[in-house]
Amino acid sequence: MTGAGLDDDMKGDPSGSSSVYRFWMPKGTSRNVVFLTDGNKSPIIWEHNYQYRGNWRNWLTCLSGMGVRCPMCDFHEKEGKYGRYKIQLFTVIDCNKFTDKKGVVRENEKRVVCAKKDSCEVIARRWKTLMENGNTLRYAMFKVHRGNSDKSAGVGDDYEFIKMVDPATIADPAPMDYKELFAPQPEKMARVVEILSSKVAAGEDAPEGTDTSVAY
Ligand SMILES: [Zn+2]
Repeated sequence: MTGAGLDDDMKGDPSGSSSVYRFWMPKGTSRNVVFLTDGNKSPIIWEHNYQYRGNWRNWLTCLSGMGVRCPMCDFHEKEGKYGRYKIQLFTVIDCNKFTDKKGVVRENEKRVVCAKKDSCEVIARRWKTLMENGNTLRYAMFKVHRGNSDKSAGVGDDYEFIKMVDPATIADPAPMDYKELFAPQPEKMARVVEILSSKVAAGEDAPEGTDTSVAY
């Protein structure tokens, strides 16, 4: 099994399959979120998304920002997949109520919206309107809707402003630690690329897009 050693490494690893900190919603659903970061406090980074054992919930921050060659970018150049793309990071409170795997009902969890280009543009337009009305993106509540199409964004396509939330009602308004969550991981990336390359060499590689259950 070529994947030996990678699964263990992914336990508790924010760039691995346990990426619960990322805001995500199923197709054809709506939910409310409250922004905790303003538009000018939202960093932009480059990352790679790759498929591993049929699962697309795997990301690695591109190493190009470190001023070194990025093995995933090299892989993309050679194989034509898993290319890097830009995301903008916003910390939000996800107001969605859900039952976790242990049967515990949870809501108002902090998440990072990792917005690609189209979602960024929507959020930027909403932010502009808020500023024109003397408000901030921070503490603004939106109803987010995700469409049904395969092209719909995992972070939602439509952000409808609901109201400004009283900051006094938010227990922990600090943004999430992006530096920690999105830290480049050169050693892990080297192992991932080695595994992905060996899968290609062995002809085991599933065509891109085979698993659309989690479309990012
Ligand atoms: Zn890269």
